[in-house]
Amino acid sequence: MPIPNPKVGFVSLGCPKALVDSERILTQLQAEGYEIVPRYDKANAVIVNTCGFIDAAVQESLDAIGEALHENGKVIVTGCLGKRDALIREAYPEVLAITGPQDYANVMGAVHAALPKPHDPFVDLVPDTGIKLTPKHYAYLKISEGCNHRCTFCIIPSMRGNLVSRPIDEVLIEAEKLVRSGVKELLVISQDTSAYGVDVRYAERAWRGAAYQTRMTDLCRGLGELGAWVRLHYVYPYPHVDEVIPLMAEGRILPYLDIPFQHASPRILKLMKRPGNIDKTLERIHAWRKACPDLTIRSTFIVGFPGETDAEFEELLDFLHEAQLDRVGAFAYSPVGGAKANALPDPVPDELKEDRLERFMAVQAEISAAKLQKKIGRTLKILVDEVGANGAIARSMADAPEIDGVVRITDGLALKSGQFVQVHVMGAGAHDLEAVLA
Ligand code: SF4
Repeated sequence: MPIPNPKVGFVSLGCPKALVDSERILTQLQAEGYEIVPRYDKANAVIVNTCGFIDAAVQESLDAIGEALHENGKVIVTGCLGKRDALIREAYPEVLAITGPQDYANVMGAVHAALPKPHDPFVDLVPDTGIKLTPKHYAYLKISEGCNHRCTFCIIPSMRGNLVSRPIDEVLIEAEKLVRSGVKELLVISQDTSAYGVDVRYAERAWRGAAYQTRMTDLCRGLGELGAWVRLHYVYPYPHVDEVIPLMAEGRILPYLDIPFQHASPRILKLMKRPGNIDKTLERIHAWRKACPDLTIRSTFIVGFPGETDAEFEELLDFLHEAQLDRVGAFAYSPVGGAKANALPDPVPDELKEDRLERFMAVQAEISAAKLQKKIGRTLKILVDEVGANGAIARSMADAPEIDGVVRITDGLALKSGQFVQVHVMGAGAHDLEAVLA
């Protein structure tokens, strides 16, 4: 019997290469609908990505496997120590599976065997771009590693270090290859897309005979040449985000911004070490919409951050009403081991956090639903993801794969995945649209 909402715990040890592996596995797990949970007791199985470089690392890895077995019981081992299968088996014969570094397919196979996947992501291999763990018609394009910010709820910088940007020509060449191999949509990812290039002082490189600086605006300009949909994720709200809005208005990249605001109370934002001028943020949102009326803004928020008062929570709800964001994800604050925020005073009791989360989601659900209602009667260009017995499932420019809603095309049986078509929107629910071919 498949478990509804299967949850996977993840322990990541080792060097940056191991982290890239972890990330790819986590991305794939999420793409397939698995939930990643930070606690052993909440997980249905645990993956331990090990290191085998020096003795201390071997011991640390073995200890981590032992702990995961003790705390959870269902453990899949991957990473460098996985090469020493016999050593692991001798210590822990009960581990479910052992795979080596970069062995994504076998890790996912072991997860599927332990916990049947919630939905089918139509995993595909694209030979000239290496193993790609997303459907053939969309691909994640990673532009940098690490992060220069120190948001107090986050431990990514301590795990992955400061920002390291990939040179722009390298990224554009990879994107070009992906598009040549059939990719129709590029999803730009990083920890902080708007900081791209700051670490290399925006180094200039050549691509297709023209000069491009290693920075977000030039990246968008270059990607906009490829004829694919280009979607920006994890954009930190820096002032220069304003520079990409014209490219969106001109249709060069998708009018879509995934920009985690996290909160709206200046005091809480300060405690989070995030940019705190919320009036300015609202002004900018209004200006972006004026310049690019079709802009979809997705964001994420944390409710119940330590010290959040009722009034500050209300401020957050006011912001939601005012900002009219299209898509929003929210989490009740939960401490991450090693995060600075854990030491902040006045933690919000769990029950209150959950209550606030519910209220937050109810407010946003109304906003999101009203925004979708307004699309009824419109003609939209969509990209088909999947065709089944009930028609086609597709996405519009406003929908990122896996995290946003979909467009269901009831008469789309003859469509093919990866195809662009125009549809008429006939109906709207809380997240999804219903449409017929135009
Ligand atoms: S939340 Fe994002 S921007 Fe903040 S430190 Fe973590 S990775 Fe960096």
